[in-house]
Amino acid sequence: MSESGVSEILLAEPRGFCAGVDRAIEIVERALAKFGAPIYVRHEIVHNTYVVNELKSKGAIFIEDLAEVPPGATLIFSAHGVSKAVQEEAHARGFEVFDATCPLVTKVHVEVAKLAKEGFEFIMIGHKGHPEVEGTMGQLSSGIHLVEDVADVARVQPGQSDKLAVVTQTTLSVDDAAEIAAAVRARFPKIREPKQQDICYATQNRQDAVKIMSPQVDILIVVGSPTSSNSNRLRELAQRLGTDSYMVDSAEELRPEWFEGKSRVGLTAGASAPEVLVDEVIDRVRALGAVSVRKMDGIQETTKFPLPKGLKLDDQSLPGHIS
Ligand code: SF4
Repeated sequence: MSESGVSEILLAEPRGFCAGVDRAIEIVERALAKFGAPIYVRHEIVHNTYVVNELKSKGAIFIEDLAEVPPGATLIFSAHGVSKAVQEEAHARGFEVFDATCPLVTKVHVEVAKLAKEGFEFIMIGHKGHPEVEGTMGQLSSGIHLVEDVADVARVQPGQSDKLAVVTQTTLSVDDAAEIAAAVRARFPKIREPKQQDICYATQNRQDAVKIMSPQVDILIVVGSPTSSNSNRLRELAQRLGTDSYMVDSAEELRPEWFEGKSRVGLTAGASAPEVLVDEVIDRVRALGAVSVRKMDGIQETTKFPLPKGLKLDDQSLPGHIS
């Protein structure tokens, strides 16, 4: 890379792996260690190219259609969760299933199932086609209506409005979701809202960190894959706050011209992006002249989720664990 005016890198805190991603990757690694390759995984375990390639090299096979999985195989559901239909098909085909659905997504599934039994219909705020949205909407055969923006709220037609509840994809823009939720509330004043918001702590914390960092930097780099919802939201947020912002899947995607005339570089990573990729970006930006790397103050996350039964090994440390 060519010389530029870059002098300092500011590292967002928190950034990178959340507890749900950590757990999902560990489930695949432990299944490989315990049962041997191949281990089948429905959908990318988390939306990150590096993580998926690393697990492929260790013997994981990623599939979308359960018909691709041979009888008797071990199958893992990705962190995004699956519909009831996928769960039922997996059991009907007799696979040994381990569920790496993030417990915070499962919490939404449980809430939907419980309220549906009480006769509720749902408005879901989320992005069409995202696997988490397909999984959550697929908890019911009907009665769950997706809205992607405020315009959708005006158009949505639930069968009734007496028993209506709202649920949200866990990785949305906090600000966009609040605006859409306000429109939902205005149209359906009696709608039931969750006691604790569905947008997860990791999404909230990473967006808060970008809000604090954005005015202090000239450019923000987000490490994340194009399919990662929460990574995209971090880049958009910085851009909205007036900071030039780029998302890269790896350090090779950095372009020297982005840094021309920029002094302070902010760096963060989506919840599915490993720290090794952040380190590689730091090395490349150092080559542009950055002499210091400074960690911002921020929330220290301590959330940890338990592993599913049947995957606890005596040896807690796995060789070559992705981090
Ligand atoms: S981003 Fe949030 S919901 Fe998604 S895996 Fe991480 S903790 Fe779970």
